[in-house]
Amino acid sequence: MTETPDAQSPHYILEHTFGYTGFRGDQQDIIESLVRGEDALVLMPTGGGKSLCYQIPALARPGCGIVISPLIALMQDQVEALRAAGVSAAFLNSSLDFRSAQEIEQQLLGGELKLLYLAPERLLQPRTLELLAQAEVALFAIDEAHCVSQWGHDFRADYLQLSCLHQRFPQVPRVALTATADQRTRQEIAQRLDLSDARHFISSFDRPNIQYRIAPKNNPKRQLLQFLNTEQQGHAGVIYCLSRNKVESTAEWLQQQGFNALPYHAGLPSEVRAEHQRRFLREEGVVMVATIAFGMGIDKPDVRFVAHLDLPKSVEAYYQETGRAGRDGDPATALLLYGLEDVVKLSQMAATSEGNEEHKRQERQRLDAMLGLCEITSCRRRALLRYFNETLEADCGNCDTCLEPPATWDASDAARKLMSSIYRTGQRFGAAHVIDVLRGADTEKIRQFNHNQLSTYGIGSDLSANEWRAVTRQLVVRGYLQVNAEAFNALQLTEQCRPVLRGEETLQLRTLPKAPARATRESAG
Ligand code: ADP
Ligand code: ZN
Repeated sequence: MTETPDAQSPHYILEHTFGYTGFRGDQQDIIESLVRGEDALVLMPTGGGKSLCYQIPALARPGCGIVISPLIALMQDQVEALRAAGVSAAFLNSSLDFRSAQEIEQQLLGGELKLLYLAPERLLQPRTLELLAQAEVALFAIDEAHCVSQWGHDFRADYLQLSCLHQRFPQVPRVALTATADQRTRQEIAQRLDLSDARHFISSFDRPNIQYRIAPKNNPKRQLLQFLNTEQQGHAGVIYCLSRNKVESTAEWLQQQGFNALPYHAGLPSEVRAEHQRRFLREEGVVMVATIAFGMGIDKPDVRFVAHLDLPKSVEAYYQETGRAGRDGDPATALLLYGLEDVVKLSQMAATSEGNEEHKRQERQRLDAMLGLCEITSCRRRALLRYFNETLEADCGNCDTCLEPPATWDASDAARKLMSSIYRTGQRFGAAHVIDVLRGADTEKIRQFNHNQLSTYGIGSDLSANEWRAVTRQLVVRGYLQVNAEAFNALQLTEQCRPVLRGEETLQLRTLPKAPARATRESAG
């Protein structure tokens, strides 16, 4: 063909402005819909390439694309990147002084801007809405659209009011984008943002280049060190911990081990956070030790691993956090270490969290689903995708259970011993004490309650405390035992125990992996 390429065509913009050769996944369909002026709802996993889905139509259509994002840091990064690519882009948020804001408003009215990023509260100010009414708007992109969902963790009241865009600007196409959305959240987004006519683009959540690995926490420091030393030397990665204290102590410890590790949590001064984030993005091989405050909107393609030292509280959270690894498509690893204490801590958090009973029940369910993923003996990826209503035709071959099918053992006898011990101590004690009784330990508490007189005292000395914790954890996860968060985390039997106690049911549990097999370069201590 001798036709000259149309400088407004999505493909031309993709190549000449962004320097990419082809579209990924649904990008082209989404972009073409928006260029035609239709609304869209885009569900794409983190790293899937959502930004281009609105950036290219904004460039292809007359006027300026308005991007609504809750994340100021992300706005700045995106605007910087766009400007570097020669796109006239800007943001309006509270970090700008009056004069700079006015300048940007003038550029918008003068038709000089192609992309303008706004926080939702800024957009909803009457002054901004009037400004937009006078400008030519190419489209509205509502990023992180799941923030409209009241059940999610990222709910933002401002997002609810974004439905006004439809009434005020009926001719302007809108696209809502998110990486987190089960069926229900998706419906909520469509309904609350008044997107009933929008076409839905649902991408696969599979991230084939991420290797999923979940292991019981035996000696987390040693396990982490082995992982870093044998597989991740010099690689950039994120290590998630539940508490700020643990973030700081872990970062410090890794620094002592010679790693370029930095802490990140919401309790650090904002300059420190910004500096650490900057170093993570710009320097090579930085290991960020962080709470979940870190990550949303971080665009670093070559993160080689994400490690969790504590259990995430839901499969969604796990997926979102691990999804920050390997955005460049190269092999990456997601390693999760979890233990009984995580289960106890999270059950407690769910039980004492704010919100009504229904909300607590849902949190509990989410946690159970996460625990289920940890304990399965089949392909992790299949289970993970099934959770997002996606079916994988075959086992993935790139998760720990595929690569090394877990060994199981007949734990019926051990389970009965544990159940009896819980029963005989009155279902009033936590795992540590029950295990002490089983192993015949000589502790103050045992003497105080005369538990050395029980028939179950010392009947479990054949297993290590670690093995008993594994048995306990698996019985909790499978619903045989429950942890009573309202009574000092006492272990209690459920109805499900009866057939096991009567010898009518056998229990196959995962065998605890032996201590790390490969040699490490770990230093002592
Ligand atoms: P998301 O917002 O969905 O998490 P981004 O829009 O930040 O993802 O894109 C993730 C990474 O993929 C970015 O580094 C981006 O430049 C890159 N990317 C997106 N689309 C393409 C494409 N069609 N070809 C090559 N790289 C792409
Ligand atoms: Zn697998």
